[in-house]
Amino acid sequence: MTFPPWAENHALQSLNTLGVPSVADFFVSVTSAEELSAALSRAAQQTLPVLVMGEGSNLLLPSRVKGLVIRNLITGIEKAGEDENSVQLTIGAGENWHRLVEHCLARGYAGIENLSLIPGSVGAAPVQNIGAYGVELESVFEHLTAVEVGSGRQTVFSRADCVFGYRDSIFKQRLKDKFVITSVSLRLSKTPAVNLGYPALRNHLLHNHLLQKDAGLDSITPRMVSEAVCAIRRSKLPNPDEIPNAGSFFKNPVVDETQFTRLQQQYPDIVGYPHKDGQTKLAAGWLLEQAGWKGRLEKGLGFHRDQGLVLINPGHHSGEAILAFVSRVQADIVQRFGIQLEIEPACYLPSQSCP
Ligand code: FAD
Ligand code: NAP
Repeated sequence: MTFPPWAENHALQSLNTLGVPSVADFFVSVTSAEELSAALSRAAQQTLPVLVMGEGSNLLLPSRVKGLVIRNLITGIEKAGEDENSVQLTIGAGENWHRLVEHCLARGYAGIENLSLIPGSVGAAPVQNIGAYGVELESVFEHLTAVEVGSGRQTVFSRADCVFGYRDSIFKQRLKDKFVITSVSLRLSKTPAVNLGYPALRNHLLHNHLLQKDAGLDSITPRMVSEAVCAIRRSKLPNPDEIPNAGSFFKNPVVDETQFTRLQQQYPDIVGYPHKDGQTKLAAGWLLEQAGWKGRLEKGLGFHRDQGLVLINPGHHSGEAILAFVSRVQADIVQRFGIQLEIEPACYLPSQSCP
């Protein structure tokens, strides 16, 4: 069997949605488990660090990526099981996420319609437990299969093993860059119960007369939810093909009751939502807007005018320049509100500079 050759000094600018100029020492795309194994064992022989990427929509890259970048293009969507109420799908990590959503909608499988139009690959979805409009991947997740980078050993991770959190999992923490996810298994419902708990979604349906006030949700289908989510997202979010961005650049910070009460006294309009264990999740977009960052651009780098949490990089600044800009923003938010904003995209600059 022949394996795809590695490219040397490979440009990654068109492969990351932030449009950051970056060059990998070595680069290879893999389309099967065999190709992945071969790439991993050759990297191990040469003691090269490995960075696996999907569609590059949640990455902050340095100007130079040392070692091997593996682009996961392993595809396939298979029905692995079915009962009266649900179906289990096993999906290749390189499948496009929204294509999977469309696949499910076409077959009447419900559960991920609120996650419509999230850019990226299926394999990256568990990495940050993707979430939007009141639903997180975790709610449909069964298990995933991954290959350990150093040993090439295949491992199955259950939901508990993944340690999912708010835009978080073990693959963003202790096991960052230690495993390559090759497939993800999800359980979808054949008897849909739509989730309209997110006010912006419900309001969109009401506004478009698809939902009547005080009426039940029986008339609302997963397809209608997906269309509503797509319409809202298209109206608010910059398309990375037109304006380079990686979605929300900061996580919404979670604070305890005492801190929230103190902030509320100082800023009565502060936006916060109940989180687990009595904590409050603050809208980072609100903090940035109050501090005057929303819509501010400095030489082609700044925050989007309609969506203040989305950092945009039309000037194609480097990862290093983005981090320098972002640390000024973070210092400003600490000074004003006493809150440290945490970067959401996976940061591959030296660890001491990735806050
Ligand atoms: P990449 O950016 O390629 O990689 C991200 C991280 O995952 C890296 O650390 C990488 O090493 C790791 N990774 C990727 N593939 C694998 C694999 N096979 N095995 C192991 N590790 C892997 N996110 C949300 O949660 N909700 C949203 O609503 C949302 N909206 C967005 C809107 C826009 C416009 C953009 C640009 C981004 C948005 N995001 C959102 C972020 C992004 O879409 C998701 O995080 C997505 O899952 C990233 O997929 P990717 O394939 O592009 O991952
Ligand atoms: P929005 O509706 O303007 O709301 C702002 C923030 O408030 C969101 O981040 C959301 O948190 C939170 N929020 C709103 N209503 C909530 C509720 N009832 N309960 C709990 N939290 C609530 O947000 P938006 O920026 O347009 O994004 C819409 C959805 O798409 C959000 O879920 C957001 O996470 C997701 N999104 C994510 C990214 C990304 O890159 N991660 C990019 C674009 C959009 P949550 O973020 O926790 O939902």
